[in-house]
Amino acid sequence: MGQSRVPSKLAVLTSGGDAAGMNAAVRAVVRTGLAAELDVFAVYEGLQGLVDGGDRITPMTSPDVSGILHVGGTVLGTARSQDFRTRDGRRRAALNLLEREIDGLVVIGGDGSLTGTDVFREEWPELLDELVTAGLLDPDRADEHRRLWLVGIVGSIDNDMSGTDMTIGADTALHRIVEAVDAIQSTASSHQRTFVIEVMGRRCGYLALMGGLATGANFVLIPENPPSADWKDAMCDVLSGGRTIGRRANIVLVAEGTTDVDGNSIAVADVKQALEERLGEDARITILGHVQRGGSPSAFDRYMGTVMGYAAVKQLLERPDDEPQLIGIQGHRVVSSPLMDCVAKTQSIAEVIANGDPVEAMQMRGGSFTRSHELLRTIVRARPRRIEVGERRLRLAVLHGGGPVPGMNTAVRIALRVAMDRGHTLLGVHDGFRGLLDSTLDEMGWMSVSGWVSEPGAELGTDDFVPDREQAAHMARQLAIHHVDGLLMIGGWAGYEAALALSDATAGAGRPWPIVCVPASVSNNLPATDMSIGADSALNSIVSDVDKIKEAAMGNQIDVVEVMGKECGFLALVSGMATGAELVYVPEEGLSLRRLQDDLATLQAGFQCGKRRGLVVRGGDPDAFYTTKFIEDLFEHESDGLFDVRSAILGQVQRGGHPSPFDRIHATRLTAAAVEHLIAQAQSEQPDSAMVGLRRGRVEFTPLADFPKLVDPTARRPRKAGWWMALRPIADTMATAPTAGTRAPR
Ligand code: ADP
Repeated sequence: MGQSRVPSKLAVLTSGGDAAGMNAAVRAVVRTGLAAELDVFAVYEGLQGLVDGGDRITPMTSPDVSGILHVGGTVLGTARSQDFRTRDGRRRAALNLLEREIDGLVVIGGDGSLTGTDVFREEWPELLDELVTAGLLDPDRADEHRRLWLVGIVGSIDNDMSGTDMTIGADTALHRIVEAVDAIQSTASSHQRTFVIEVMGRRCGYLALMGGLATGANFVLIPENPPSADWKDAMCDVLSGGRTIGRRANIVLVAEGTTDVDGNSIAVADVKQALEERLGEDARITILGHVQRGGSPSAFDRYMGTVMGYAAVKQLLERPDDEPQLIGIQGHRVVSSPLMDCVAKTQSIAEVIANGDPVEAMQMRGGSFTRSHELLRTIVRARPRRIEVGERRLRLAVLHGGGPVPGMNTAVRIALRVAMDRGHTLLGVHDGFRGLLDSTLDEMGWMSVSGWVSEPGAELGTDDFVPDREQAAHMARQLAIHHVDGLLMIGGWAGYEAALALSDATAGAGRPWPIVCVPASVSNNLPATDMSIGADSALNSIVSDVDKIKEAAMGNQIDVVEVMGKECGFLALVSGMATGAELVYVPEEGLSLRRLQDDLATLQAGFQCGKRRGLVVRGGDPDAFYTTKFIEDLFEHESDGLFDVRSAILGQVQRGGHPSPFDRIHATRLTAAAVEHLIAQAQSEQPDSAMVGLRRGRVEFTPLADFPKLVDPTARRPRKAGWWMALRPIADTMATAPTAGTRAPR
């Protein structure tokens, strides 16, 4: 009998440290495998489960992975396995797999687990020979399965793996850190205390660095940048400077595993002692510990876990001849790279860090890590640097346009700090372009944005006013009267339109006058960027509301949830994936009576087979012909008594609340780059206006003049479908009704 060319049957396991979002990946592997008519098994208790066999390796059906998306940790369990480190243990694991004809393995774990399973894969043919020789395995069966197919997904809160921008669990860990530090900030301010907070990350400072950026921490110590032996002086200088100008709370974040350049470890207790002895501060220690691992996964970890699980199975089935791959995400797109290259690179970074070489460690972590670190060093300064002699002090202005969005304040805060740090003045315009018309603008001070990093809404005020030609000309005169050299617009669609009108009005007036637009929109409907500020916060808001809606269900029920976005389906499709919706309606695809009828029939069939809950997420214009109420009434009327239907229109709550960690970091990076661009334009002979964006993971600028040709003005969305439309087949595969694709394993 010949060897098969693709895996015969598949097993999925979680191993190493648990991470929120692992369940989304498990669910996706099971459902994608079943949809491809493959038998899929779950291995419980990690690699130890492979060694133990028995009911620790269990066939899965689609309903077996229902209701796990929102659950933290891993429902499959995980364990460190000594047995798997031995050849005897791995031989037992091989036998347990082949007894079930499993020769495809999806491993979700850290670099240890991926290394261990790659050793297992390499040894596989020898292990089979040993089992045949020992009379434990039928030679024909061994011949049929000479190869073990392996694919890896990284589940690790540390975000320490090469080959992917993000690992499963890191975003949720940042949520926990940000929630905790925001809470500590308020008590620290009340008592004028200093808090020294230890965050996890083994030998990776990602959580501390990004947590620091996202919370406005005043000093951050990370392993990649071991400070010199006099770090206590440097820290005390920064913190006492802040006190002098009236800062009430000081927060120091320390990544576990941080050392100074000589390799002496820096513990939170050392930091506390230094603050007490040198500054007389009342310093308190908080070790966040396992709180960072726990809790319900963030929206990002739910959909990224899903995307990675789907891609892992596709990798095995569609490119079986590749060497083992690691599935990763880069710039919101799935990528795969040779598994062991990624592991080797990850381990070599760990070695460089252990050897205390800050320059190389930073380089190996990559550009955005280094850039974030530089930014953090600018923001934590209590005072701006002095302007260089001979440089002209620019007068820049900042304003919003469109609806309020979580992260707008974070963006203004960084705009001010970067502009002032470069020696320039920033004027804040109140209430958007209407405020510019009325000339309500004033100079902002370094400390005027204190606390804005986490502040919901838009402190400067915003408006969706778009000027006509005459009004735009009046605004241009106002800017000239106030000697403004350049304008930063942080906002949504109306803000872009207004900025374009103003740019047109100033273009005729001799020297063009620069504007930079920073995308801030919960709908994520702006051109020249993969993600707008605010969209991730809105996704998290939807996910947490839908969790509650599901919990409040009674009996057999379908919930129809309407989300924002008007003619842009981003929020609907991505939140639909993150909440496990059976049906997602996005405006880009339109909706017809026929489609509603077909979907209703599928739901009815599901409920007839024992389904108890259904979720429909509807995006699109709230007033389109098939309204949410229409869908609710139709489904209810045609339910044949199988289910009740309720609807919820989430509305403005999606704009509210504190910005998510990603939105804070995103706002910080985009706006810092935008201000630097604006300064360069204002200083150039031929200034240009631009839109800043994050595209494929890189900050890029697109001429503002391109706005009209990049968008569909009626639908108010980019002409070209966003990266997220590629998620549609994944959403459909996950939603496969329990009646279909649930093969009973042979
Ligand atoms: P993580 O996957 O989070 O990095 P560990 O490093 O603890 O976690 O590894 C998890 C498990 O992977 C270990 O308990 C062990 O069973 C297995 N493992 C790690 N390295 C090897 C190896 N070199 N050979 C065999 N098994 C290994």
